[in-house]
Amino acid sequence: MASGDRELLEALVRSVGEIQKAVGTLSNEVHTINERVNTLSESTGLVEESSPFKKQDDVPTTPSVNPTSSGLASGVVSAPARKPVNSSRIILTTYPGQHGIEPVPMNWGEYDPAKRGPVVVSRAAGTVKKRNAIGAHGGSYSIYHALAIASGELNLDHKPDFTNTQPAVDFGPFPQWGDKKKIVSMDPYGHLAPWLYGDYINKESMDIRPTIAITKAHMRLPELENSVKEGRLKVDGKICLNEDGELAVTKVAVEPVWYLPGVAERFGIDEGTLRRALFEVSGGSFPELITRGDIKLFLPPIGGLTVYIFGDVSKVSDANVKLALRIHDECNGSDVFGSDICTCRPYLIFGIEEAVKEAQNGGSGVVIYFRKEGRALGEVTKYLVYNARKRGEDKASEYFKRTEGIAGVKDMRFQALMPDILHWLGITKIDRMLSMSNMKHDAIVEQGIPIHERVPIPDNLIPADSRVEIDAKIHAGYFTTGKVMTKEELDSVKGRGWEDVLH
Ligand SMILES: [Zn+2]
Repeated sequence: MASGDRELLEALVRSVGEIQKAVGTLSNEVHTINERVNTLSESTGLVEESSPFKKQDDVPTTPSVNPTSSGLASGVVSAPARKPVNSSRIILTTYPGQHGIEPVPMNWGEYDPAKRGPVVVSRAAGTVKKRNAIGAHGGSYSIYHALAIASGELNLDHKPDFTNTQPAVDFGPFPQWGDKKKIVSMDPYGHLAPWLYGDYINKESMDIRPTIAITKAHMRLPELENSVKEGRLKVDGKICLNEDGELAVTKVAVEPVWYLPGVAERFGIDEGTLRRALFEVSGGSFPELITRGDIKLFLPPIGGLTVYIFGDVSKVSDANVKLALRIHDECNGSDVFGSDICTCRPYLIFGIEEAVKEAQNGGSGVVIYFRKEGRALGEVTKYLVYNARKRGEDKASEYFKRTEGIAGVKDMRFQALMPDILHWLGITKIDRMLSMSNMKHDAIVEQGIPIHERVPIPDNLIPADSRVEIDAKIHAGYFTTGKVMTKEELDSVKGRGWEDVLH
């Protein structure tokens, strides 16, 4: 190495050292401010005497309670030891290198779960300082969890009893589970967490929970009784159990776990931009997105997904048999309550029927249900759009404009993360894709999973009032084996008017 290079290197090392010192000082100062805020909030009654956080004196809700700890990650400046503080203090945020902060190592994308490490997000005693994830368990239900704690219905340190809760079937592992590019929005070992990481729970009293659960059940849909009557589905006693069209199914519930660098990469943005937006737009709910650059995992407060598998689960990943798949995004109004303004429930039922048929033919059938109500815009926005459509002229040519006018975008489902579940299922190709969405198609193919055939919803299953939606979607790029209408033709596709809706 030339002496000039060496000098430059030494100067750089000095600078980095100074920056580290500055970060350490800053971290201490912020901590001091936090302590003042806490003192202030107590004196103003922000922390009530009746609060469960106050009652449980044994719950350390501050990260700086262990002055003897020395296990800070190398290269991180440690703040000077500080006296333990009162357990009722609120932690507004934490900092890397802050005293007592010892995240459990997390090597996302490592195939060996022992080397990978558990996802640790709980703020319970004995766990709060070891977290390697931001957010909370339960997705959107974390808020109900907060209500249960606040109202005193639930003890903050409740330890779940996982006896007999293990997966109903063995599943995986697949090579994809060890690829940090392929799975970025769920924990591939989430269904096994309490058993793989039992030592952390039993020996270190840490709160580690599953983010995936696998069970078996029967399901009955009135439409499938007709499928049997009309001869489309056959009773085989294994998948279709009887003349009522009752089905045997394996179900997988998945809560989101985001690996932030991977999520940012999928969207083609940098991690900092992603963290900043998540922090700002969620009302500043997760300050550690900003202060804890060392923590790469985030359990967001959003809905997850459910996989419905028909037939032998080992066939889902078998490249030698055919796979029929439907990816369905939630539409409560149609899926559950039978609204006829869209094709959601008819397409979902068609997807289930085709999945069952494929499984009965020796292949595999899978339906995946994502909690992304109303194109992830929610039902309030959706109903505003319905009103705007029906009060105006409900034309297919105007369909997306209504949504864009209200929400600013026509769709927020962002399918980029959706293929993770396919990688988790070990799927390497899809023989029959029961979806017309070009966005879903493109996201899957971009992830290296080929789709051999796309199957549109049959015309006879499309409710009259939903022609506006389906024709507008086809015009915008949805797959069809039929005709793509011109702009002029779309003008003539109209739905039920406001007068009819009011009846
Ligand atoms: Zn719908």
